[in-house]
Amino acid sequence: MAADCIFCKIINKEADAEIVYEDKEIIAFKDIYPAAPVHLLVVPRKHIPTLADLDNDDAMLMGRMHLVINDLARAFKLDKNGYRVVINCGKDAGQVVYHLHLHLLGGKPMLQTIAEGRGV
Ligand code: AMP
Ligand code: ZN
Repeated sequence: MAADCIFCKIINKEADAEIVYEDKEIIAFKDIYPAAPVHLLVVPRKHIPTLADLDNDDAMLMGRMHLVINDLARAFKLDKNGYRVVINCGKDAGQVVYHLHLHLLGGKPMLQTIAEGRGV
């Protein structure tokens, strides 16, 4: 738990969120400013600030977060048409919340590609 971290507060039920999944290690909730019809955040309970802060012991956790993404994609009916998974790491990527999270986005065609430099 990091004192000023909004995602730690959501994890500890000190702040509200629309939670769509939780287990011992992982929680997922709706993004408060959705960038797509389905926009979920998949978050480890452990406070890891950025992707760059992962260590070897987190390898299984990161794998499991991707399996949760796939389960949620099926639950929210994104699996047929596809979905985008995004991790912003640090300032230039536009990371705003410094508690590691995966964005799951879908429900509309996302025509802008990373190669076009416009992100999602
Ligand atoms: P990032 O730029 O990858 O750090 O994205 C942080 C995301 O968290 C943004 O898409 C925000 O809309 C979202 N967000 C921030 N605060 C909350 C909150 N209290 N509940 C749900 N989503 C949030
Ligand atoms: Zn945190």
